[in-house]
Amino acid sequence: MGITKERKKTILLPIQQADLELSKLRFAAEILQKGGLVVFPTETVYGLGANALDEKAAENIFLAKGRPADNPLIVHIADFADLGQVVADLPPIAQALAEKFWPGPLTLILKKKESIPDAVTAGLPSVAVRMPDHPIARTLIKLSGLPIAAPSANLSGKVSPTSAEHVIEDLWGRVDVIIDGGRTGVGLESTVVDLTVWPPQLLRPGGVSLEELRQVVPELELDRALLDKNKQEKDMVPRSPGLKYTHYSPRAKVVLVRRGEKQKEKILELLESYQKAGKKVGILCREEWKSYFSKADFLLELTKGSDLQQAAYNLFNHLRRFDQVKMDVIIVEGVAEEGIGLAVMNRLTKAAQEIV
Ligand code: AMP
Ligand code: MG
Repeated sequence: MGITKERKKTILLPIQQADLELSKLRFAAEILQKGGLVVFPTETVYGLGANALDEKAAENIFLAKGRPADNPLIVHIADFADLGQVVADLPPIAQALAEKFWPGPLTLILKKKESIPDAVTAGLPSVAVRMPDHPIARTLIKLSGLPIAAPSANLSGKVSPTSAEHVIEDLWGRVDVIIDGGRTGVGLESTVVDLTVWPPQLLRPGGVSLEELRQVVPELELDRALLDKNKQEKDMVPRSPGLKYTHYSPRAKVVLVRRGEKQKEKILELLESYQKAGKKVGILCREEWKSYFSKADFLLELTKGSDLQQAAYNLFNHLRRFDQVKMDVIIVEGVAEEGIGLAVMNRLTKAAQEIV
């Protein structure tokens, strides 16, 4: 599917507190009911929402983002009772995961209900569903009375948006409404777990960690596409269609330096050699290392010490910032692949053109 050339009149709605600004949310909910496109904050990243029961509305999401038609959408619900509108059956394991982690950054792949159009699931017999943990998202969905299909609110291939400013950069004139609810809390997307197979598969690491999930489902496995890091994703047939596409690409070249011996020295070496070649180089690293890279053209802090939650919160925001200040190269300090660090490294591996 292509990208829309049609320009829309986009309305920006700043909302500080969902329960105090219900009239704005009612207005946005009506746009959803009429088949329009509404961008809203969730606890993970901003979502580009449309009525998940309306084929045409869902197709418009793909056009606005330039998203390939074979990459299915996540359906968002506000209450457990709404699950029945989306999935055909709810195995006990799904019930257990939903009870433990919803509302929250966990997406479950389940058998879809007939009424979910093909555009939403890219023709698959399964559907991705989650209940976001954000008062604006929840209230908007509730007021619309609909399940809402919502991928990340960025142009396809770009870094997911963690603020309304990012959404405006990518989607102004392509959507009907953008709700500005400030920075998103988690900073990267939901964890995706496929429950249509046994043992269940982790398709995408995200806001809920593998360790936490295994406390409920010890059998949970990492999908093959996540295990084989050296193989090009495009050579494989991923179970989650979206995983084969380019993702999270800033304009600048991203160089990821994995954890290990001499990580700091390797970053410095790369910094010097790219600068010698005339490139503007940005460094994204822990606070404690910043003075070591004072030669960098632009320095941003990924973490303080080993706070991986903070790395997730900062990652997408900072990748976009390096583009705003026109760096040619961004060298990033790799973090530990534990907890949410697994998701941070997954996104970085996809964003990187060079991994050291
Ligand atoms: P996004 O909403 O842009 O963060 O992307 C949603 C992710 O969920 C993509 O990686 C999709 O491929 C994946 N996804 C959505 N629906 C399904 C499904 N039915 N089966 C497997 N993966 C899915
Ligand atoms: Mg996305």
